[in-house]
Amino acid sequence: MRIRVLALAAATVLALAALWAQNTPRQVSLVVSGGTVVTVDAANRVIANGAVAVDGADIVAVDTAENISRQFRGRETIDTSGQIVLPGLINTHTHAAMVLFRGLADDLALSEWLTKYIFPAEAKTVSPEFVRSGTRLAALEMIESGTTTFVDMYYFEEEVAAVTKAAGLRGVLGQTVIQFPVADAKTPADALVRAEAFIKTFKDDPLVTPAVAPHAMYTLDGPTLKASRDLSKRYGVPTLIHLAETRDEIQTAQERFKSSPVAYLDSLGFLGPGVLGAHGVWVSDADIAILKSRGVGVSHNPESNMKLASGTAPVPAYLRAEVNIGLGTDGAASNNDLDMFEAMRVAALLHKHASADPRALSARTALEMATIRGARALGMDKRIGSLEPRKHADLITVSTDGARQTPMYDPVSHLVYVIRGDDVQNTIVNGQVLMRDRKVLTLDEKAVIAEGRGWIEKVRAAVR
Ligand SMILES: [Zn+2]
Repeated sequence: MRIRVLALAAATVLALAALWAQNTPRQVSLVVSGGTVVTVDAANRVIANGAVAVDGADIVAVDTAENISRQFRGRETIDTSGQIVLPGLINTHTHAAMVLFRGLADDLALSEWLTKYIFPAEAKTVSPEFVRSGTRLAALEMIESGTTTFVDMYYFEEEVAAVTKAAGLRGVLGQTVIQFPVADAKTPADALVRAEAFIKTFKDDPLVTPAVAPHAMYTLDGPTLKASRDLSKRYGVPTLIHLAETRDEIQTAQERFKSSPVAYLDSLGFLGPGVLGAHGVWVSDADIAILKSRGVGVSHNPESNMKLASGTAPVPAYLRAEVNIGLGTDGAASNNDLDMFEAMRVAALLHKHASADPRALSARTALEMATIRGARALGMDKRIGSLEPRKHADLITVSTDGARQTPMYDPVSHLVYVIRGDDVQNTIVNGQVLMRDRKVLTLDEKAVIAEGRGWIEKVRAAVR
């Protein structure tokens, strides 16, 4: 009898413990709760009154707010009622520090713009201090407008990396290799040495992915292009290159190699997984087939291409061929901002206009290009690009309660055709809150802006 009572008591305790475990929410670092969650996952899941549970650097659950609150308790919580919660945006092509050249020279063709303004300005101003100030200003703008990962091609990339980490952003950062002497390397051989040291320093960083950035096929000889590619292959890091951007580049490739830029690079053995080509404007169907077969990613930069009148990239053809294509702003000198919402909207409008077909690029596809397709173009889609358990917690929230956003029938439509960077309320990268209710926590906004303004006279003098 006594034994029976004891057994019964033990069973009761066990049952109660199980019940308690079931009803006790697990503690996690952060819960973002309320509003509409647009996951951009494979099932296109959109959750009304949803929530995201984050623990450390990763997402642990994406569900209704009710289910999340039953299962998780956040040490920190953010109420996002009335907002849209979405994956952080991925800018697949920029030159962050060039924000300091914003508006320096507009309304010019690429060659004149480059040779009369950008290259001379860079020759006289680019230094570690310049890159630090510029990248800091760019990081502030990116955090404020919802970019959580950016792909950079510039000089003194170790400075870019230090600022990126301090700001808390994720970066794929490419050390530039170019044939002529530049601020951080007298020769391409020097640049390759610099790139290797940079890769070694940041190889296992949680936020920075180091990369090699051979500038373009027309600014580098064949051996240097090959050496750049070999270096990135040796360390398993990405290769970033400007590719088929203008008609001039096509002409150069034709004159020098009787080839297209894509076919020429392929003949060098340059193209393969891990290569990201920026622009890809002037490509034939054969070029697109090569890019697809080699697993090359492409960054589409509609605003830069339109502003410099470089041409219209055949984005619908890339999509049909299932090339991994992301979206970028390019540097602020040719855009003139880093707002990825604007990039989405311009991409969607440009391709409808160019093809006389409103179905050419849907809002859904534009959003994917700024998130999961961009992640695929970078080979990072297992880690970022959508809101799913086990992916890194890179997410943003945007307000939808203003006149401009009312009414809202379809959140995806709003994200592309209505929302602006200024509507971003919270920016979270790797589980860290970088901006909360529009207050940036990792950078001193006033100081960063004042520092950026401090460069005006020097830059102006450089192009006088
Ligand atoms: Zn560029």
